[in-house]
Amino acid sequence: MKYLLNSIRSWRLKRQALRRPNYFSTVTCPRCGKRSRDQMPGNASVYFYHCLRCNSMFKPKPGDCCVYCSYGDVPCPPRQRTGWARQGGLENK
Ligand SMILES: [Zn+2]
Repeated sequence: MKYLLNSIRSWRLKRQALRRPNYFSTVTCPRCGKRSRDQMPGNASVYFYHCLRCNSMFKPKPGDCCVYCSYGDVPCPPRQRTGWARQGGLENK
């Protein structure tokens, strides 16, 4: 009985992980190169990135919606979704 409960619990955890897009991005500071692993908000674009080491504020590069798309190794969640939509030919630009 105990074994059954544990397996149900781990199955639930696995399903939660599958439903979530990748919300973590490693942002590299363009000035000093410091890397920090940040959690991204699900639906908001983050327009300013503050580096704790060199104390600089950065805006996204032209054409990018947020600092994670410009300086992170993973694009932000909204762009992850539009990226998938673009593969289906929904690009408007
Ligand atoms: Zn920096």
